[in-house]
Amino acid sequence: MPNAKKGLRMDLRTLILLLSALTAVVMLLSSYFASYRVQRQLLIDHALESNRVYAAKLASITELFMQNALKQLAFSARNLPQALNDDTPVREETERLLAQSSAFNSTFVVDNQGVLRAISPAPLRSIVGQRMDSPGTLEALRVKRPMVSSPFVSAANNLIVVASQPIFSEDGRYLGYVGGSLYLRQHNILEKLLGEHFYQDGSYIYVVDAERRMLYHPDPNRVGMLIKTNSLINELHSRGNGVQQVTNSFGVDMLAGFATVPSTGWGIVAQQPLTQTLAPTKRLILDVVELSVPLALLAGIALWWLALTITRPLWELAAGARAFDRPDTLERIHGVRAWYFEAAELKRALLFSLKLLQERIGRLNQDAQTDPLTGLGNRRRLDFTLSLLQADERPFCAIVLDIDHFKRVNDQHGHDVGDQVLRALAGLMRTCCREGDVLCRTGGEEFLMLLPDASLEVAAVVAERLRLVVQDTPIEPVGAVTISLGVARWSGGVDDPAQALSHADRALYLAKHSGRNRVQVSES
Ligand code: GH3
Ligand code: MG
Ligand code: MG
Repeated sequence: MPNAKKGLRMDLRTLILLLSALTAVVMLLSSYFASYRVQRQLLIDHALESNRVYAAKLASITELFMQNALKQLAFSARNLPQALNDDTPVREETERLLAQSSAFNSTFVVDNQGVLRAISPAPLRSIVGQRMDSPGTLEALRVKRPMVSSPFVSAANNLIVVASQPIFSEDGRYLGYVGGSLYLRQHNILEKLLGEHFYQDGSYIYVVDAERRMLYHPDPNRVGMLIKTNSLINELHSRGNGVQQVTNSFGVDMLAGFATVPSTGWGIVAQQPLTQTLAPTKRLILDVVELSVPLALLAGIALWWLALTITRPLWELAAGARAFDRPDTLERIHGVRAWYFEAAELKRALLFSLKLLQERIGRLNQDAQTDPLTGLGNRRRLDFTLSLLQADERPFCAIVLDIDHFKRVNDQHGHDVGDQVLRALAGLMRTCCREGDVLCRTGGEEFLMLLPDASLEVAAVVAERLRLVVQDTPIEPVGAVTISLGVARWSGGVDDPAQALSHADRALYLAKHSGRNRVQVSES
C-alpha cells in the first residue's frame, strides 16, 4: 500500500500553514478570551465602584438632611420652653416647623409626661392630649437628647421614624421634646432623595436600618420587613461601606455598593444587575474581532507567501533530484535559490552527489569502451564514435590495419610476447595520429583509426607513415613486424558509415593479397 500512504502524506507548505494557522487561532482565541476577561472585570469593578460612590453620596446627603432636620427641631426646642404651658404658641410652632420645610410629614411637641401637647398637620389633632406610647416616642423621653428613632408603627398606623430634640427650661429641667416624623411608606423628602435613582436598567437602591428593617425599597410592600439573612447586610453592618457581588431575592446576580448614614446607622445599598453591567462586553468583543480580522487576513496572506518561499527551494531541489539523469540537472540545481541554511546544505549535498555520480558514470563509460590490453578504444567506442559522427554528419576516414603473419609471432614467441607486440603497436599508432582521432582495437590483432574531417589523401599519408614507423621500429624480442592497411572515406550524407569500414576492410584484404606491408586506398 505504498501509494495510499503517499496520498496521505502532507507537504511542508501545508504543514507550515497548518501550524501557523493553528498558532494564530490559539493566539486570537486566547487574546479574545483575555480581553473579554479584562473588559468584564473592568466593567464589574467600575459598576461596583460607581454604586459604592452613589451609595456614599446618598448616605452623606441623607446625613445632611437629618442634621438639618435636627437643627430645625433644635431651634424650635430653644423657642418653646417659655410657652409650653400655653397651647396656642406650641401649636403654632409645630405649624411653622411643618411649613418651614418639606422635611417632615408631621411635627409635634410631647411633654415630659409623654402627653402630646400639639401636632401638625391639623387632621391629626384629635389625638392631642393623649399619652404617646409608641417605641420611638418613649425612647425620646428616656434618652432626653437629640435623636433619630428606629422605625416603628405609629398610632395612626404609619411606619415612621421620628427625629426629636429635648426641651429644657432655663434652669435645666427636662420639659419634653419637639419631634418631626417621616412616614416611610409615603411620599416625603426621604423618598424623593432615595427614590429617584439615576439608572433605568434594573438598578435600584434600598435602605435598611441598624436593626435590619427595610426603610426604603422600590417595592413598597417590602418596606418595614425585617431582613434576617442577607450577607450584604451583614457586610454593611460590619464594614460600614464597600462593595459586594450578591444574588438578590429573585436569584439575580447584582453588583452592589453600600454606605452608612452615621447619625442613624442606616445602610444605603445601590445595586445593578450583573447582566446589565456586562451587556457592553459582547459589543466590545465584536469590535475586537472586527478590528483583528483584517489583520489576521493580512497575516494569513503573508504566511502563505512565506510558506511558499520556504518550500520553493525544497521543491526545486526535489525536482532536480528526481531528474538526476537529465543533462541539464546540474544547471537546474545550480539555479535554485537556496536562501536559508537547510536548503543551502541540501543543495550543496545534491550538487556534490551529482558530480560524484557523473564522474563515476564517466569512468564506467570510459572503462566500458576501453580495450584492457592496449588501452585503445574497443568495439563499443567504435560504435559510439560512429554514431556521433553520423549524427553530426561529419565526414571521416577509416584506416583498418592487421599485423602480417602474426600467427608466426605467437607460434615462435608465445602468446604473451604476442600481446606485448599488440601493446607496442598501439603505442606506435598513438604517435602517428593527432588529437581528435579515435583509435580502436577491433579484433585479436586488427586495429582501426578514425580520422574525422580528414581527406582520403591525408588518411593515406597517415597510413603510410604508420606502416613505415612499424616496419622500422623493432619490437623486442620479436624484432620488426609489418602491417597491412586499408583506407576508406565516409563523406557524410545518408550512407551508413559502416559501409566505409567495409570498404576499408576490402582494401586491407587487397593489401594482404598484394603482398602485405602496404597501404591500399579504397576509392569507392
Ligand atoms: P595474415 O598476414 O594473413 O594476417 O596472417 P596472420 O597470421 O596474421 O593471420 P591472422 O590475421 O588471421 O592472424 C590471427 C592470429 O592472431 C590468430 C591468433 O594467434 C592471433 N591472435 C589473435 N588475437 C590475439 C591476442 O589477443 N593475442 C595474441 N598474442 N595473439 C592473438
Ligand atoms: Mg588478422
Ligand atoms: Mg594478421
